[in-house]
Amino acid sequence: MARAPLNVLVTGGAGYIGSHVVRDLVQAGHEVTVYDSLYSGHEWAVLGADFVRGDLAERARLEWLLGSRNFHAAIHCAGHIWVGESVKNPAKYYFNNASNAFRLFDLCAQYGIRHVVFSSTAAVYGQPDEATIDEDTPLAPINPYGASKAMAERALQDVAAASGLTFAILRYFNVAGADAQARIGEATPDNSHLVKVALETAIGLRGAMRINGTDYPTQDGTCIRDYVHVDDLANAHLLALDHLTAGGDPFVANCGYGHGFSVRQVLESVRQVTGVDFPIETGPRREGDPAILVADSRRIKALLGWTPRHDDLERIVATAWAWERRLQDMRGERRLSA
Ligand code: UDP
Repeated sequence: MARAPLNVLVTGGAGYIGSHVVRDLVQAGHEVTVYDSLYSGHEWAVLGADFVRGDLAERARLEWLLGSRNFHAAIHCAGHIWVGESVKNPAKYYFNNASNAFRLFDLCAQYGIRHVVFSSTAAVYGQPDEATIDEDTPLAPINPYGASKAMAERALQDVAAASGLTFAILRYFNVAGADAQARIGEATPDNSHLVKVALETAIGLRGAMRINGTDYPTQDGTCIRDYVHVDDLANAHLLALDHLTAGGDPFVANCGYGHGFSVRQVLESVRQVTGVDFPIETGPRREGDPAILVADSRRIKALLGWTPRHDDLERIVATAWAWERRLQDMRGERRLSA
């Protein structure tokens, strides 16, 4: 079905997930404007969209942008994402992920933006007992990252009820993988995500890596997560936008495949894909880490017709590995030209 082109604002569109969403929106023929502070994103990751540098805390700049372009929809991907950091510096998370998100949603309503798609997280659930988590599971975050996203979810729902805008809240599980052509991928500095850390170790940027806890109540003692390919996740945003612009009701949906892998299984896959037997140490648990997080993803499949195309750990790791090598080359080229 041909979609009518939309004028879409993407916050955080220079970041890892946002840049994949932008790529697909542009590919689908939409007019896209990225608003990003470049705190952790990169302007080179913005493929084919307008780029405006700005921070979500800069109200006047946001108002100028929203007032100067007639956006139909906003996709709010900007945010801080590190569980461990959020435990050490909660204010950073509450100010950016909650307060700044609230300001953005309120401005969206004021400036007549009809639809908002919001990047949320499985961390809003905390440590549920269920083998797979559905969207009606009570929110009980166990770290400030999850709490800050839960607050923003609530704010969006309240702003929507008061203003009539419609929303999609997408609760991401563990996003990994990269663009099939290795044009974009995860390039966030000081990254602590498992697949990224393992690949950086395999490529020699880190001497060794550590498994955070081997005494969890799981088969091999390490945490289990539902790893979803970033391309499938990006596609979910486009489907969500289609749903909302076609008059669909607001919704909350998990984005995961519905099955998980342990830390050890992921590391084994990284060793196989890269062919590098990199050093792995074991260490204590990381504060704020639940043992198992696996999505019940029936809702997004039924509601949006979301059909994952990359539900394969080896493919996730292989695309991320191709990207990691490309990133290494890019850094080398930059050093040479400096
Ligand atoms: N992990 C690990 N070593 C690392 C990075 C992550 O053992 O160097 C573990 C982490 O403690 C968690 C799982 O891998 O159990 C997934 O963590 P990640 O940070 O990738 O995502 P999160 O689930 O925190 O969003």
